[in-house]
Amino acid sequence: MIHNSTPTIIRNGTIFASDGSDPYPEGELHIVDGKITYVGPTSNAPTEPFNNSLVIDAQGGTILPGLIEAHFHATYFNVATLQDLDIKYPVEYVTLLAAQNAACALEHGYTSARSGGSLFNIDVWLKKAIAEEVVRGPRLTASGREICGVGGLMDWNPDYRKIGMDGLVLLVNGPSEATGAVRKLVKDGVEWIKTYPTGDAASPDVNDHHSLCMTFEEMDAVVRTAHNHGLKVTGHCRATQGIKNALLAGFDSIEHGTFMDDETMHLLLERDVPVVPALYFEKASILHGPDFDMPQQVIDGHQETLDAGTISAQRIIREGGRLGLGGDYGFAWNPHGDYAKELTFFVEHVGLTVEQTLICATRTGAEIIGVQDTLGTLETGKLADVLVVAGDVLNNISLIEDKKHLLAVIQNGIIKAGTLLNPN
Ligand SMILES: [Zn+2]
Repeated sequence: MIHNSTPTIIRNGTIFASDGSDPYPEGELHIVDGKITYVGPTSNAPTEPFNNSLVIDAQGGTILPGLIEAHFHATYFNVATLQDLDIKYPVEYVTLLAAQNAACALEHGYTSARSGGSLFNIDVWLKKAIAEEVVRGPRLTASGREICGVGGLMDWNPDYRKIGMDGLVLLVNGPSEATGAVRKLVKDGVEWIKTYPTGDAASPDVNDHHSLCMTFEEMDAVVRTAHNHGLKVTGHCRATQGIKNALLAGFDSIEHGTFMDDETMHLLLERDVPVVPALYFEKASILHGPDFDMPQQVIDGHQETLDAGTISAQRIIREGGRLGLGGDYGFAWNPHGDYAKELTFFVEHVGLTVEQTLICATRTGAEIIGVQDTLGTLETGKLADVLVVAGDVLNNISLIEDKKHLLAVIQNGIIKAGTLLNPN
């Protein structure tokens, strides 16, 4: 990714560094060659002049690390039914939509994202296009196609149609097929393996949120093969036994982590495995599902999921665990661009402080991806992915939801979006 050779000074804002330090009012941040060279109070900032430096006035607002979407589906094109994810459009058109969704995420302050699964191998190539500045978007960590057991949540095309599910998931029966699926994804160039250990409220009849879609043996085979090749593993885990199986198999993160009993919570905390709850998706399904003819049974399932997921997220934070934020934007009732509603939801409904929520959305996101040494906090020597927001985010996190409040979205020291770049 290209960096800006013009030194940049951001001043006149409160800095929230996400590194555990107190916010600095009257803060200042310096960027040289795409890296942070100073962060702290203006009164202590080095005074040696920068030649032709760019000065960004934060207008008394807030300066924080670029946000990290920990469960991003670039190829979900605001679909109204799960089935549309698969064959509604050909891969060529979905690729274009995915590029547009990536630009949307960047414009909303998200400078990094971990893919939670993609149609075909689009996210692998989207990652390259973003890194090489062919298109704009968050620094992407790719997952490619997901893995699910035959007959599970993501296997909906009847056999008689002979169209399979190949674009979206690799379907497996038994550990040897699970190994084979991971090996295919190794060749595809993914970094994370996304699996479906459990069902979901979205599929109430045969794969609901208390059912399993993979066996422990299949999950274990996935982890052994992935780890052998240096890849990480995550999974859609709602049912208690599915979460437990994922932890015992050695998953590197858990998506959702909905129904947790004491034993599962203990295992999670003992292994320090991060969880990405993606709770706002449930809330949005309950609020807006009826507008899209969502059956009442599905809405009731989302309510049960939201209630249990909220309790689990609260326990994880209270007991010293880690949460990443983001999740499943790209449905008609939860469209791309709404990502930061997750943050507001965690403050207003889950009960985290603004500071805890921002740390989840930045530092923990970087830890999940494995880039905590270079991203996720505002610290000297780190890459300059910075968000400058008009207004006091620490008192009102919902300011981040509206991109009109984003003065500058800076990636690698370059302003990529924000009202300072595009005044209208
Ligand atoms: Zn997802």
